[in-house]
Amino acid sequence: MAVQCKPIPALYTVYILRSTVRHASLYIGSTPNPPRRLSQHNGLVRGGAARTSRATLRPWEMVALVSGFPSMTAALKFEWALTNPHISVHIPSSSRLAVSTQVKANGQPRRPSKSLASVMSNLHLLLRVPSFERWPLKVHFFNRDVFSAWEKWRAATTEQLRPSLPVVTDFGREAAASGNETSEAAHETPDGRGLHTWGIHALPLDYEPIKEYVAKGQEIFDFGRQGRCVVCEEEMRAGKGLQALCTNTGCDGVGHLSCWGRHFLASGDAGSVVPVSGQCPKCQGAVHWGEMMRELTLRVRGQKDVDKLLRRKRPSGAKKAAA
Ligand SMILES: [Zn+2]
Ligand SMILES: [Zn+2]
Repeated sequence: MAVQCKPIPALYTVYILRSTVRHASLYIGSTPNPPRRLSQHNGLVRGGAARTSRATLRPWEMVALVSGFPSMTAALKFEWALTNPHISVHIPSSSRLAVSTQVKANGQPRRPSKSLASVMSNLHLLLRVPSFERWPLKVHFFNRDVFSAWEKWRAATTEQLRPSLPVVTDFGREAAASGNETSEAAHETPDGRGLHTWGIHALPLDYEPIKEYVAKGQEIFDFGRQGRCVVCEEEMRAGKGLQALCTNTGCDGVGHLSCWGRHFLASGDAGSVVPVSGQCPKCQGAVHWGEMMRELTLRVRGQKDVDKLLRRKRPSGAKKAAA
């Protein structure tokens, strides 16, 4: 099945990995499962990248990541642009901060070595380019000094990020470590789910956070209770185009996807080319386009995922071996 036929993934991230031994060693990657991927980089489970296999640089830690990619392809594009800012078409050459002066034999500029400051400035830059700005991305920082590097860059530049772009921090390790810093690896379990409930271990890997919303959608659409479009007020007919549901609890407002889009662009997103967020005409609550798209794509393309999410979980301890 082609990638575009899948529902929006529950989680897809682009992460920044740093050696806890040598802070100058940075690596950028992407994954739907950060805890499992970190275990791979640290050699606890199979599948780490060759560049992170040197024992002297382990353990690695994920110091920051970006979530909210609408597909694996989207995350790979962002990862590539962040890894290759010197040649990425997404970054105008005048804004390429880590400009390389060296040229390889094939004429391509040599990839500049990554420093934390250059990664932060390039991340800031990528989050502002139109092709990425429309995605419902969220930036997470798990280390105070990395967040400081981000803040330092943010204060130094006059360029503004979209105000609705969420930037969250979780420095749980500091609270837990109480001065005596323990290695991340010590807290890992073989299945990649650590003992922690903070940082990358607190990220939802499945659709559980939107379970109630998905259940509401099933109830309305399975029983043909769409009613009238909240925007154009026409009667909604089953199977007639894409129909999206308000994200707010208790609101059963449904609208044509094109009507929601037009409504968002005319109000909250004025000046934007693609809808990001707006207000539901029925409940007046805030609605985020990205969240609405997750329910829509799950309902339309991911019935299997919906069934899995809404069915009661089978008792744990199933025979399936840990990955
Ligand atoms: Zn309509
Ligand atoms: Zn509503």
